[in-house]
Amino acid sequence: MFDSSTYHIWHGLSPMADFFRLSDPEMFLVGGSGCHVTDRSGRRYLDARSSMWNVTLGYSCEPVKEAMRRQLDVLPSGTVMRYEHPAEVAARYAAALAGVLPEPLRQIRFGNTGSQMTEAAVMLSRFHRRMTGEPGRQHVVAVHGSYHGTGPLASALTGEEFLHDLCGPIDTHVGYAQTPPAESCEGSVQNCSCVRPVLDVIDSIGAEQVTAVILEPVIGSYVLSPRGHYLESLVAQCRARGIHFIADEVTTGAGRTGRMTLSERLPEPPDMIVLGKGLSAGYFPLAALAVAQPLYDELADSGHRVGFPNGSTTDGHPIGMAAGLAVLDVLTAPGFLEGVRRTGEHLRGLIMDVLGDRDEVRGVRGEGLMLGVDLAYPDGTPWSVGDTNQLRLVCRDHGLLTSFTRGVLPLLPPLVITDDECAELVDRLGAALLEFRKRTEG
Ligand code: PMP
Repeated sequence: MFDSSTYHIWHGLSPMADFFRLSDPEMFLVGGSGCHVTDRSGRRYLDARSSMWNVTLGYSCEPVKEAMRRQLDVLPSGTVMRYEHPAEVAARYAAALAGVLPEPLRQIRFGNTGSQMTEAAVMLSRFHRRMTGEPGRQHVVAVHGSYHGTGPLASALTGEEFLHDLCGPIDTHVGYAQTPPAESCEGSVQNCSCVRPVLDVIDSIGAEQVTAVILEPVIGSYVLSPRGHYLESLVAQCRARGIHFIADEVTTGAGRTGRMTLSERLPEPPDMIVLGKGLSAGYFPLAALAVAQPLYDELADSGHRVGFPNGSTTDGHPIGMAAGLAVLDVLTAPGFLEGVRRTGEHLRGLIMDVLGDRDEVRGVRGEGLMLGVDLAYPDGTPWSVGDTNQLRLVCRDHGLLTSFTRGVLPLLPPLVITDDECAELVDRLGAALLEFRKRTEG
């Protein structure tokens, strides 16, 4: 019998009752190889969610494992939290990471989770205001439907209001704008009407009281890419109002979309970029905050004598740094990121070729290997969260691990997925869709 008196692991985010109802100790994972994982019963699954969207290089990336093993022998622990002795590998990794980010994102703070780093970004923005004579700027603007992690500040940044009430009080200085539209608007960069809802929220707070806007370049939960000039227009409008623009690239960064970051496509770069997940290919808890050099310099020039009060014991942990350096080597190898973009297009095409004539499949959204299958009822309304989760469970029964949200089945397999594995993914998804229909009609 599987219950909390025999198993003591407390599962994150899933309701407790669901975990015991839907899981089974035989499903606990014991192995991983390439793009597949194996559970206790010996069953193999194609992991089309890369654990939690982070195992970007699959489970067998030998260069990353080797770098971590070597580091373990030399200096197995360390910190950048305080004092004058960061691990030398942390400085090397910071320089390497800064070297692949858009100018002028040149100063890197390390942490362990995306939540920690989105909070750090907003805290840094506020700290900067205090140190440079604008203490009135405290508010942040985020968008509905976004995800920026959990924590008293990170949960507030996450634009899913049902999360806000459950563990409050949370930070109250966050305003929410309408989710970016999926369709392009007509306007130019200077005059793009899509960003009007964000500007309205800024105006309602008072622009001189807003310190930052935070946004995912692809809103992960719905795999929603703002179209047209949305992003560049938003950066320009923030800059015109003296507001920091924070790009949360925890999911989109480190190769997931076939680029190191999506921010590199912007004519004006963000003031901060948050990275996580794929930075270490999920082999170590690792996240980072990249800060624009001018912002850093303004802080340095402000002559303040206090440190930025933010950090944790294992920030800049040498094993994570070694993993990050080895992952960067893989991502920057000639042709690797182009290959991710090609595989993404291949998988998108295959899904539409094989499953596109099913009436519930309305299309595939996303960038690179951050894809989402759009699911709709005959009248065109998106599938409910319940039905989409049910399909996820049928996929699981067919040996395919996916995520789910309302009306979208996100597919974020490891970036090293082969064409044969793409075919396997689509086969398993097709079988699951058939069975789902049989179960609901039967
Ligand atoms: N920001 C984004 C865009 C994310 O996708 C996530 C994780 N899904 C986070 C922040 C939080 O990261 P973590 O789970 O590592 O705290």
